[in-house]
Amino acid sequence: MSRVAYVNGAYSPHSQAVVHIEDRGFQFADGVYEVWSVLDGRLADFDGHMTRLNRSLNELKIEIPMTPAALGVVLRETVRRNRVRDGIVYLQVTRGAAARDHAFPTDVAPSVIVTAKRIDLARGEAMAAKGAAGVTRPDIRWGRCDIKTVGLLPNVLAKQAARERGAYECLMYDEMGLVTEGASTNAWIVDREGRLRTRDAQANILRGITREAILKLVAAEGVELDERPFTVEEAKQAREVFVTAASSFVMPLVSLDGVRIGDGKPGPIAARLRQAYLEQARRDAI
Ligand code: PLP
Repeated sequence: MSRVAYVNGAYSPHSQAVVHIEDRGFQFADGVYEVWSVLDGRLADFDGHMTRLNRSLNELKIEIPMTPAALGVVLRETVRRNRVRDGIVYLQVTRGAAARDHAFPTDVAPSVIVTAKRIDLARGEAMAAKGAAGVTRPDIRWGRCDIKTVGLLPNVLAKQAARERGAYECLMYDEMGLVTEGASTNAWIVDREGRLRTRDAQANILRGITREAILKLVAAEGVELDERPFTVEEAKQAREVFVTAASSFVMPLVSLDGVRIGDGKPGPIAARLRQAYLEQARRDAI
């Protein structure tokens, strides 16, 4: 089945979908994006991602191209046309196409693209059951990682460092040795005292929508939470390490830089939170 993409008001074959060479997303990474997980053909955490999208656009003073309801129609139509039952839908909004000049152009309409793809959930389940490997690298990103911009080169380099070592994710750390987040995930540990820890969401990390959903589930699961950063060393000595994102839900890491975490198997808290998150995401998807 051939894939279909939405570009600026029209649906076209994925292989022929194009934007202008002077689109500011291409020229300057002057744009933002969102990723929704699609479960049973419906969008998980719909409102959370939409709210964060509008916040990212506002922070960069990019015009909001459509109402959330209209965008929702486009997202669902793209999912439908691609016959995605389980997978992801990707939305990118850039400031638009204009003659190349760093400062904002006037009279430019934002560019909007949407794509959707299937994901084999069974593969993710198998990986979560076995646990994945992680590596660590210094965080070399800018000071506004709370904005979900398409400027992802440091994240690309971090993920590539993981791949070259046969690992799934790269945890990045600041100049104090404190873990900020993963290349495309938020990072969590269950420390030696059994407390669940994740960095508080300030300007130096992305406020993950999956992270927010998990934070709400933690109390119901009876887990003690400590929203405080942790060092790479603490992660290596933790009982559990896991990462969260819309595309992977809750993914346990069973090694970091080759150091085994706990007994080298996914821990019970990650497993419980993964299950609780998926149940809730499926139930509330719209
Ligand atoms: N942190 C970064 C740097 C990310 O790129 C992502 C997802 O793309 C996340 C965290 C997780 O965010 P979410 O749970 O909203 O997918």
